[in-house]
Amino acid sequence: MPKAAVPFLAGKDSPEAGAWLSALRHAMPDERIVAFEDLNEGERSEATIAIVANPEPADLSRLPRLCWVHSVWAGIERLLANLGDSRLQIVRLLDPRLAATMAEAVLAWTLFLHREMPAYARQQAQQLWRSRPYTRPEQRTVGLLGLGALGSASAERLLAARFKVCGWSRQRKSLPGVECFAGEVGLEEMLGKTNILICLLPLTLETRGLLNMARLALLPSGASLINFARGPIIDDEDLRAALDSGQLDHAVLDVFAHEPLPADRWPWRHPGVTVLPHCSAPTDHETAAQIVAANIRRYRETGELPACVNVARGY
Ligand code: NAP
Repeated sequence: MPKAAVPFLAGKDSPEAGAWLSALRHAMPDERIVAFEDLNEGERSEATIAIVANPEPADLSRLPRLCWVHSVWAGIERLLANLGDSRLQIVRLLDPRLAATMAEAVLAWTLFLHREMPAYARQQAQQLWRSRPYTRPEQRTVGLLGLGALGSASAERLLAARFKVCGWSRQRKSLPGVECFAGEVGLEEMLGKTNILICLLPLTLETRGLLNMARLALLPSGASLINFARGPIIDDEDLRAALDSGQLDHAVLDVFAHEPLPADRWPWRHPGVTVLPHCSAPTDHETAAQIVAANIRRYRETGELPACVNVARGY
């Protein structure tokens, strides 16, 4: 019997839909990957697997036999919110290429802060010729919030650059060379010794607003922050107050509650902020399509589903 078509749902007017379709078709020549809009009624009623980018929830509900969806993104909070209490199993993208790209960004922006580039930019603005005392990486503690696929790859890269690395996760991890923490008390202990704090947590009910005034105040005065995860994990106004008071020296922000960041938002103009346009770890269409293809192939051959998102936990 021929295999049912695999719908691809990318949401309205997605600029990347064409690139995704061609990468997915290239990676799965023995599957029929069809844009949702191009499916006929029969194909819609037979589909059991779909591949999704930012699907319209109403479109998914028109696939009555769907068992699971494979997201092409690593972060799935928007998909979870859109699906409501649907019983669909969700598989997210777990791509070592993406983790390596994120680890590279973590190292690049950690070095930017470690070598005090914001301070030298301020000095240049004042035509001030003054070298600052050198700090060795082993004297600098980098704290990772989240030790999952992206956090653990980043920890390895930071350790190789000789930084002291600690990390916080829900379940205490055991990673060579990393001082690991868990729970509220563990978070407080880690913040107390962190010079550069890097957020790589998923956005969930528990992590929304996690970095507020009280927690930012636990960092040593003059610490720095990098957010490569999701904007709402940090309380926006508390972040501004911590920067204004000097409690935080600098924040590198790649993610925001509203993207693109609206022109009237304060981070654009704050001297203590570097704004990045959600570019720390772009998904690679080619490697992502190969991962999706391998997961679908295994399911076709064995009926085995890849590891699914824990919907109740939110990641
Ligand atoms: P992951 O593998 O699911 O890891 C998440 C980590 O966060 C885990 O260590 C988890 O703890 C920890 N965690 C979750 N909730 C927690 C809580 N309430 N308290 C303490 N720790 C908690 O996710 P990932 O693949 O590393 O991705 C992380 C996030 O990065 C994604 O959700 C996405 O938002 C973001 N992202 C950003 C970009 C970008 O370009 N800026 C690109 C890709 C992804 P356990 O290990 O104990 O479960």
